[in-house]
Amino acid sequence: MQDFHVHTGHFKGKLYFSPEEVAEGMKALHVERYYFSSTSTGSVPFSEVRHEIESLVDLSGGRAVPFLWVSPEMLEHSPDLGSYFFCEFAGIKIHGYHHDWNPNGKPLRRVLSIARDKVLPVMFHTGGCERSDAGVYMNICREFPSVKIILAHGRPIDECVAVMKECPNAWADTAFMSVNSIVKFRDEGLISRVLWGSDFPVMRYYYDMPATEYYRHNTGAVSEALGDEDFARITRDNFRQFFSTKRQTRNDPRACPKFQP
Ligand SMILES: [Zn+2]
Repeated sequence: MQDFHVHTGHFKGKLYFSPEEVAEGMKALHVERYYFSSTSTGSVPFSEVRHEIESLVDLSGGRAVPFLWVSPEMLEHSPDLGSYFFCEFAGIKIHGYHHDWNPNGKPLRRVLSIARDKVLPVMFHTGGCERSDAGVYMNICREFPSVKIILAHGRPIDECVAVMKECPNAWADTAFMSVNSIVKFRDEGLISRVLWGSDFPVMRYYYDMPATEYYRHNTGAVSEALGDEDFARITRDNFRQFFSTKRQTRNDPRACPKFQP
């Protein structure tokens, strides 16, 4: 199986998800490929973020694929984000709750233009407050139809469904999503644009049990509710479809050597 939503890094100033912990956990859970970003972004110098990313890519033996988490400050510092693309990222992550991104502002549109030019998907955290609820991204999904946009967590679920029905470029991941919400995507005919995501190992912050145990329990519950065929779609087949768009070849000698999308 694959996992679209994994993290390494510092979390809320309380926990640290080391690259070692993440690599070992994903291996123990038999996740063949996972897409991750660093929760340290913005709270430590970028050189540390870079080190975390490179370490996890290395330790994972090619299973870990990085997304670049972008803050408004990073865009100010490097208007084309060129200073941060030190390796071949598979996408961009925007956290509109944690960082103050105006969903209708120009800076966010600049990020989307960069993603369009680089043929990269953009993952939006959804939920938590009005400016990061799924519905606010309807406009940007319409404005950038060639950019694949992932509404991570799909919150609130009705807004997420509405955006996905309107915009064929909108996808959702299942990180911290209830089983009922995942089943709803199937009932609404949207299961082919849902990607399995877990937020591993962030569950360690919320639940008093090992992250791997939570993961196994959650995987079991979702696969039982969806059945084998649809579970295989969200954990495997849909990933193939998602990454089927031909990406531009970049001749960056600094590209992370082990990342082969
Ligand atoms: Zn997350």
